[in-house]
Amino acid sequence: MTNRAYNFNAGPAALPLEVLQQAQQEFTDFAGAGMSIMEMSHRSSIFEEVNDGAQSLLRELFGIPGHYKILFLQGGASTQFAMIPMNLLTPGKTAAFVHTGSWAEKAYKEAKLFGSTAIAASSESDKFNRIPALSDIHIPADAAYLHITSNETIEGTQYAAYPDTGDVTLIGDMSSDILSRSVDVGKFGLIYAGAQKNLGPSGVTIVIAREDLVAESPKTIPTMLRYDTHVKNNSLYNTPPSFSIYLVGLMLKWVKERGGVAALEQFNRDKTKLIYDAIDTSGGFYRGFADMGSRSLMNITFRLATEELEKQFVKESEQAGFVGLKGHRSVGGLRASTYNAVPMESCKALAEFMAEFMKRNG
Ligand SMILES: *Cc1c(COP(=O)(O)O)cnc(C)c1O
Repeated sequence: MTNRAYNFNAGPAALPLEVLQQAQQEFTDFAGAGMSIMEMSHRSSIFEEVNDGAQSLLRELFGIPGHYKILFLQGGASTQFAMIPMNLLTPGKTAAFVHTGSWAEKAYKEAKLFGSTAIAASSESDKFNRIPALSDIHIPADAAYLHITSNETIEGTQYAAYPDTGDVTLIGDMSSDILSRSVDVGKFGLIYAGAQKNLGPSGVTIVIAREDLVAESPKTIPTMLRYDTHVKNNSLYNTPPSFSIYLVGLMLKWVKERGGVAALEQFNRDKTKLIYDAIDTSGGFYRGFADMGSRSLMNITFRLATEELEKQFVKESEQAGFVGLKGHRSVGGLRASTYNAVPMESCKALAEFMAEFMKRNG
């Protein structure tokens, strides 16, 4: 048996052991080809099957309607911060953002380079410890789209429900919670996510977009940054990140074997409850950062009374086999990332460690 850490890394993050083992098993000889998936042409029928298989499994599991395209791109979610306004922010229109924290801000700042922008709602005055009430979101009349960050990875907040935007295109950065719960994809014009938190390794970015939005890009945009290039070529315009796409496919099979997204959502709820309960029953020893109604199932952020105690927590947790519990440098405190592949066992162990740490230091 391999020695696996209790991995709470924020991204790249834990992958299921079964997925890694399958990749290991077929690492040097994939599908009897006498070579690894990394060594074969992306135009080969074997790779085409991997590419199409991952697409159709994602469509099935996430309930993606037929009139949506699925793209596998490179450059991370961060490149989407620019590609979205380049392709979809038409002249005379405004890109509107719900400002919920660190990642929303990056998306917003990048869009500013390309045209008019507006903040439709913000929780900055509360240090981004909550998602703004949906009724407080004011979409400008000339909005090309409204951009939301479904889960703020650094602050540990997540939308409990998505805004209804009527005729205005809703765009969601789901980098840190894609496939962790059921989503009405039809509410969105475009969803994007770097794979490395919930769907696989780094190197591939998933874009799910309504056909009509990505059919024709403005002619002045460089080839690789145009959605229509990748739509017309089934994400095979140039050499794709083939190994990453293959691993995403394995991860999707794992999700299906576990019973699909609804089962995964319940699993995520059950495992995060262990840690939130440890916070809520600590009598204030542990203090959750996010407002109750905005708590994330993916990133649990909490603090201790002093930074010194937090440092001690990190140090002792590392000695006990936990990895990745230090909060992001921009907000401090502690963070446990509990993405799809993080096992129940890790969360149980963390809840126990938290209780025991409190006993010694409370
Ligand atoms: C990690 C993350 C990103 C950045 O992803 P890259 O693939 O590293 O560019 C963007 N948005 C959110 C919500 C994230 O969690």
